[in-house]
Amino acid sequence: MCGIVAYIGSKKAQELLLEGLKRLEYRGYDSAGIATLSKSNSTTGDVASLKVVKAVGRVANLEDKLEDMGGLNGSVGLCHTRWATHGGVTEFNAHPHTDDRFGIALVHNGIIENYAALKTYLESKGHVFKSQTDTEVLAMLIGELYSPAEGIDLEAAVQAALREVTGAYAICVICEKEPDVLVVARKGSPLSVGVGNGEFIVASDPSAIVSHTSQAFHLDDYNVVKITRQGFKTSTIHNVAVTPKVVQLELDLEEIELGTFSHFMQKEIFEQPKALKNTFRGRINVQDSKVVLGGVSNFDRDLVKARRIILTGQGTALHAARIGRYLFEDLAKVTSHDEYASEFRYRNPIIEENSIVIAVSQSGETADTLAGLREAKDRGALSLGVINVVGSTISRETDAGVYLRVGPEIGVASTKAFVGQVAVLTLLSIYLGRKRFMSSEHCRELLTGLEQIPDKIQQVLEYDDLIKKVTAKYIEKENWLFLGRGYNYPTALEGALKLKEISYIHAEGMPAAEMKHGPIALITEGMPAVFIANKGPQYEKVISNIQEVRARGGHIIAVATEGDEHIKRYAEDVLYVPDVPECLSPMVTVIPLQLMAYHAAVLRGHDVDKPRNLAKSVTVE
Ligand code: GLU
Repeated sequence: MCGIVAYIGSKKAQELLLEGLKRLEYRGYDSAGIATLSKSNSTTGDVASLKVVKAVGRVANLEDKLEDMGGLNGSVGLCHTRWATHGGVTEFNAHPHTDDRFGIALVHNGIIENYAALKTYLESKGHVFKSQTDTEVLAMLIGELYSPAEGIDLEAAVQAALREVTGAYAICVICEKEPDVLVVARKGSPLSVGVGNGEFIVASDPSAIVSHTSQAFHLDDYNVVKITRQGFKTSTIHNVAVTPKVVQLELDLEEIELGTFSHFMQKEIFEQPKALKNTFRGRINVQDSKVVLGGVSNFDRDLVKARRIILTGQGTALHAARIGRYLFEDLAKVTSHDEYASEFRYRNPIIEENSIVIAVSQSGETADTLAGLREAKDRGALSLGVINVVGSTISRETDAGVYLRVGPEIGVASTKAFVGQVAVLTLLSIYLGRKRFMSSEHCRELLTGLEQIPDKIQQVLEYDDLIKKVTAKYIEKENWLFLGRGYNYPTALEGALKLKEISYIHAEGMPAAEMKHGPIALITEGMPAVFIANKGPQYEKVISNIQEVRARGGHIIAVATEGDEHIKRYAEDVLYVPDVPECLSPMVTVIPLQLMAYHAAVLRGHDVDKPRNLAKSVTVE
């Protein structure tokens, strides 16, 4: 959700900023903007001037505009790709925003919740606003407080302004009057500072940093960093000194390049076997019937005593969490439930003793999930994170956790992170089950099956051409159903969500049995209904549900177990997946659904990696 890059050093800022911004475009892409400070010699000495350029649409539009005007000079600057929250998608509302007195420019990720009151105050002081955004209010407020004569320099003005603000922010600020300074700060939205040799590159995500330096530190909430070419100084908004920990970024450039693929989503679908092998590496010990999870082992006693597990997340992560609920009840025999973090957070939940809350999030920055986690922690629950991004806020705030290790996910529609989340929840439930009631034979059987999942996914990926052909048959259809039962009911939800997200086709996912309680009224002649009908305990029941849809003219696309010839009697199209134990099946049954959504979007001519209205990593509530 919104990408920020800022630079201070000796190189020309524009090129570096744009390169970083393109890497972050998946975080928001409705408009983009850049500002630099360039110095010119005048008779009175060096004078810096602030130049701001903005464009509606993609970063490419901004690049075109910059090219037409001959580009921006300067070796200090910042840029932004927006995911609008306050104010429409217009050039005025695009960032950077400026104050009206001192040549201050600011980019912002997040929401200033008390912007209306601040705006009224600033208007009473004579400031005139050009945009409808909450962000411009912060730029003006910094300008209002800026007073070098009274010792309030840019850093102090930023600190003072942030003390007045409620909401979430990652900001970068520059000022004409202090042309060799960059001030950055965060609360709620991620921001990292890459530390180079005489240069610093700040970004919302390390993927915009790694091509320049592998040394970086992540800001904590309420941190303000003043950066010059000579070094940096970190404090809180109350000006208390802080010593950040510079770490080595574990990110391979290849992982964030498209390579031979057409889209990141496609790349990420196809790299799932490799990604899962990484998830499992060192964690599965079949011989000793053991799951090794260093990240949670200190909490074994609490885990064994668990009386209730609450899994929270949003979107795709919630679907993984829902599969987690089935896993924990089935394999670990612990009462479990899953819930949208946004609902859990505000409904005054009852957290009994020995409750565990598991926050599931790819980015580890999802604002709703973070808020839910904090609420559960406040009420005494042990908190675990199932997160992909190492060092992210949720991973730092949970008591313990297990990383997905699937590598960076750039496609806005989550694929490999979903499978990684399900894999980690499976590991956790077996880990817990084994410590409670699970026999060593049962554990060994499950781990043997789990270890084979990457190869089974590979087998499904081989059917890509067929899946594309089947998708093409239904490409004109505007309404789809996705149905499954048991472990594959959440898979059906995920299939529907994928199709909605990137092909803008209306799709509903639900438990197959629920259909007859209402949604069956929607079925019309030729409506595609995707059934997850793999061989499992409810296979016969699923076949009955298929019959109900067929009887009303629906066309059946069945995801079925390899070798099931019987299903062909009921389905127009069959997409086979290899036979795996039922509790592990979502990791393979979801693959054809991901590929269908991908092909549907491409066939309809949509930008798969930048779907309409969406952005990766939702850092606002
Ligand atoms: N709330 C700000 C706006 O609407 C920032 C949005 C973002 O994070 O991109 O401009």
